[in-house]
Amino acid sequence: MISTRPQPSADVPEPPFDEDTPTLLVKIFGKDRPGLTAGLFETLAAFSVDVIDLEQVVTRGRITLCALVTTPPVGSAEGELRATVHGWAESLNLQAEIISGRGDNRPRGDGRSHVTVLGRPLTAATTGAIAARIAGTGGNIDRINRLAKYPVTAVEFDVSGVPTETLRTELAIESSARSVDIAVVSSGLQRRAQRLIVMDVDSTLIQDEVIELFAAHAGCEAQVAEVTAAAMRGELDFEQSLHARVALLAGLDASVVDKVRAEVRLTPGARTLVRTLKRLGYQVGVVSGGFTQVTDALREHLALDFAAANTLEISDGRLTGRVTGEIVDRAGKARLLRRFAAEAGVPLAQTVAIGDGANDLDMLNTAGLGVAFNAKPMVREAAHAAVNVPFLDTVLYLLGITREEVEAADLQD
Ligand SMILES: [Mg+2]
Repeated sequence: MISTRPQPSADVPEPPFDEDTPTLLVKIFGKDRPGLTAGLFETLAAFSVDVIDLEQVVTRGRITLCALVTTPPVGSAEGELRATVHGWAESLNLQAEIISGRGDNRPRGDGRSHVTVLGRPLTAATTGAIAARIAGTGGNIDRINRLAKYPVTAVEFDVSGVPTETLRTELAIESSARSVDIAVVSSGLQRRAQRLIVMDVDSTLIQDEVIELFAAHAGCEAQVAEVTAAAMRGELDFEQSLHARVALLAGLDASVVDKVRAEVRLTPGARTLVRTLKRLGYQVGVVSGGFTQVTDALREHLALDFAAANTLEISDGRLTGRVTGEIVDRAGKARLLRRFAAEAGVPLAQTVAIGDGANDLDMLNTAGLGVAFNAKPMVREAAHAAVNVPFLDTVLYLLGITREEVEAADLQD
């Protein structure tokens, strides 16, 4: 007969213990070797205990194994369990500690975040300062995990009990004081569900500014730089400065396009980032205030799903000094992110955007996760996360992907 009483959760049975259930925390530390975990549990099995929690880490060949188990059903057996586990540990030259208590971990507080720290090197002083800041906000570090050791040391702290925004603001102070990257993102299923990444091109996906490469061929680098500086001073908006700079290229032989394509240098880590995200099922796009003459080549070269930029007009084998089509500016980049997301069938909350310039700001704020990459301070401060090391694949660590996973996937291919 089916009960009509409301069930707390229809398909999940009640836990076999509550917070008052006596439990034993068994901690083993020592030189790691095959069979240790099996040995401990064979020893515990003789006492008919149940496993509630289990954590193991190996650091430089030393294992720390913590098992939280129920106390033996026969009360008198606890002393015997202790003696047997200690005897087993001594025979293997391991340290064992068994602590009596009740129940499981305290439930984690509200407000859960991942704090990713990138250091080159990551000093003890910095680590201490970050941990102290987290404690100062009332947050609790629930777990710490290394994501990468090369080319940066990347460590992830799982923090609970403090709103993500508060943590981000507090840790930004430590980040700039100590020249270390600290990215704070809220935890939860959203992070695992991210499915579209859209990148700026100049000084993000590539190391160059494409207009400067063209200007070098046209012999007008100084004039282009002057317009760029005027735009930075706020005397011209992006569209005005684009038209002014492209006008300086008028008359340039169209064969220069191929030369510029060949000169473009990808940012270190760009290939790894794109390859890894594509393996994970991401769609990858670029938007650029530069030119389709370059972004189309990048799209083909890196097998990107989306690319959009301004198009240099070419007539009778020469650049006319004009651009054609829809202008990709600050608002245009955000619009294109929305368009790509719609085409990919991905909600905006599940998108990631990366950029370095002021004209990336709207796009970074429109994405679920906006990452400032070696950006100016105003962009860094406005983005959800900032990376200031010159490796684009470090963005993977912000998504919780470890260097080991990236390398293992590369080996499999
Ligand atoms: Mg840029």
